[in-house]
Amino acid sequence: MAFDIDMIKGVYANMAERVDKAREIVGKPLTLSEKILYSHLWDGNPSKAFKRGKDYVDFAPDRIACQDATAQMALLQFMQAGKPKVAVPTTVHCDHLIQAKNGAVSDLKVANSTSAEVFNFLESVSNKYGIGFWKPGAGIIHQVVLENYAFPGGMMIGTDSHTVNAGGLGMVAIGVGGADAVDVMAGMAWELKFPKLIGVKLTGNISGWTSAKDVILKVAGILTVKGGTGAIVEYFGEGAKNLSCTGKGTICNMGAEVGATTSTFGYDESMERYLRATDRKDVADAANQVKEHLTADAEVYANPEQYFDEVIEINLDELRPHLNGPFTPDLATPVGELGEKARANDWPLKVDWGLIGSCTNSSYEDLTRAASIAKQAVDKKIKPKSDFGINPGSETIRYTAERDGILEIFENLGATIFTNACGPCIGQWDRSDAKGDEKNTIVHSFNRNFSKRADGNPNTHAFVGSPEMVAAIAISGRLDFDPMNDTLLNEDGEEVKLDMPLGIELPPQGFAVEDAGFLAPDADGSGIVVKVSPDSERLQLLEPFTPIKNESLMGAKLLIKAFGKCTTDHISMAGPWLRFRGHLDNISNNCLIGAVNAFGKKTNFVKNQLTGEYAGVPDTARAYKAAGVKSVVVGDHNYGEGSSREHAAMEPRHLGVAAVIVKSFARIHETNLKKQGMLGLTFSNESDYDLIQEDDTFNFLDIAEFAPDKQLTIEIVHADGSKDTIKVNHTYNDAQIAWYREGSALNVIKKENAA
Ligand code: SF4
Repeated sequence: MAFDIDMIKGVYANMAERVDKAREIVGKPLTLSEKILYSHLWDGNPSKAFKRGKDYVDFAPDRIACQDATAQMALLQFMQAGKPKVAVPTTVHCDHLIQAKNGAVSDLKVANSTSAEVFNFLESVSNKYGIGFWKPGAGIIHQVVLENYAFPGGMMIGTDSHTVNAGGLGMVAIGVGGADAVDVMAGMAWELKFPKLIGVKLTGNISGWTSAKDVILKVAGILTVKGGTGAIVEYFGEGAKNLSCTGKGTICNMGAEVGATTSTFGYDESMERYLRATDRKDVADAANQVKEHLTADAEVYANPEQYFDEVIEINLDELRPHLNGPFTPDLATPVGELGEKARANDWPLKVDWGLIGSCTNSSYEDLTRAASIAKQAVDKKIKPKSDFGINPGSETIRYTAERDGILEIFENLGATIFTNACGPCIGQWDRSDAKGDEKNTIVHSFNRNFSKRADGNPNTHAFVGSPEMVAAIAISGRLDFDPMNDTLLNEDGEEVKLDMPLGIELPPQGFAVEDAGFLAPDADGSGIVVKVSPDSERLQLLEPFTPIKNESLMGAKLLIKAFGKCTTDHISMAGPWLRFRGHLDNISNNCLIGAVNAFGKKTNFVKNQLTGEYAGVPDTARAYKAAGVKSVVVGDHNYGEGSSREHAAMEPRHLGVAAVIVKSFARIHETNLKKQGMLGLTFSNESDYDLIQEDDTFNFLDIAEFAPDKQLTIEIVHADGSKDTIKVNHTYNDAQIAWYREGSALNVIKKENAA
């Protein structure tokens, strides 16, 4: 699997000098996040102090990871860049395209047949361009990265928003769109706005039913889905040291749910134990030699208010287990209080499924803690009231858990062991008890619970909890069950109580695996021919986007004014649409079909101003495009939150949308719009959102003078001929304006390659 020890030693070799230089320039002690950021500057040694939340900075990440759904478009784009090999160690992981239905063996067989074309494409492109390839069934990207590639003090990017999981091993790991990954694969710098810093001080100790998952469920409740936007969350304190490395991974993983750029922890003994247990003694030894640079300066954690932009303190001794949801991961409720809340809100109390695993919670410790609850159900003769599904995070975890009898415990409970893949976490779930749109409740140990996320049913109320809490709730079959205080009736009619979970941090006999599922690339892939059939409905070679002309921005039509939450799932739905992730025209048929139209409050039902008729969003956009008319999307706060998929930007771009104007953006989506050569703008006056009417036409009056730090002016012409003129803000710098002017960032790379 070849983690690159020479590359890691190279990073460490430069670290002392760069950190010292950064400390001198910044003029004060440094946080861990700053040490990693300043030691990964594209220009090498730091030469100026950056303003947090303001300056755009070029970085040189150490690694890239791509998952199968996003890798298709990323690699299709990389192929356009005209390079013989990727410039930075890169891996591709086949995990999103495997549907969970009957169990691992048959589900994997089906996926290998239905997605053969895509898997073969990814394998051959990986082989050609020097990319490590993890086969279907090898595991979920973030678990595999944590087990094999993450290293303290490193910087990586990944084409998936939960790349942040690698913060559990002390990295700055950031989810990006495929277009950003292409820049780095092509040997270019990666640009990021220098993040703000949020410090989370953990005091006390986790114990009993409370787990690492509850730390992030609590943080999500405090920060909400927007609270971490533009910031790195850095955890520290005695409580942090007492968490396992994989527990830290869980906390960092769900940092994506507070919108954080990433989250991280300082290097400590838990990380060293994990590195040694996962066969990376060399990395642990190398990290030990520079460990003072792999955590913040002591003064920072002693007086955090002076060094972080915001500080949160959580006493783990007092932290209670939580279940967050439904429909949003920041709706945090302590377990004992959930019944009352559910009754008040009419959430179904009966729980139909308990799902354990995903990239968030499938460590050895997670599985042993959940299994310790599952075993009690069998031993105490409690018949589980819900169905169980388990998604191991990797073949290494699965093999080890099977060897140690952990999977058997779940099987004794009637659980289905799904493939080592995302499955229900990304809507890849052919749910056996699916009942149309019927209201129902499920609990899972995943990270996201947006409407329709798991099974496509908008009335599935999904709650997020720790694996052991999911096991307990699913066994009871009730959302209002509190295992710390309540009893259950067993098959003998006796009242029994579940004892608190017991977990094992790392397998006492070590991890084991027969075939981890890794394919190393050919040393020379120049002779490999990558084939894409012109008739394919899954893959389509890309055509460059043409620049948006200034004059086409006079008379642009409103396509949709999205009402309320509009995540990347609403803009480019996952589930069955995942099969078209490599075919831009076909996947564009899902463009914004999940967004609620502010006029009429329906989804996928908007007015075509040219005909006066109502139709789906993609059809209406195609009609404008065919007529040579540009269109505009309007949205609310945190538009594009959720995943890093650039399809959510490429699809509207492909369908002729020129601008997206919102109250605020999620960071990754805003960057993705810029990369695809579109306008991503925010209302200068938020209430201007209310001015937008269904028949509006937009005239971008001063687009010819598009420049950094300069507002744009838009004239909005309403159906009755009346007009409003509004100001909009943007965050484009000179380079990003060049992307817009050339049609896309990729067009700029190609032009530079050709020069
Ligand atoms: Fe897969 Fe879910 Fe993790 Fe995304 S969050 S990588 S869909 S398991």
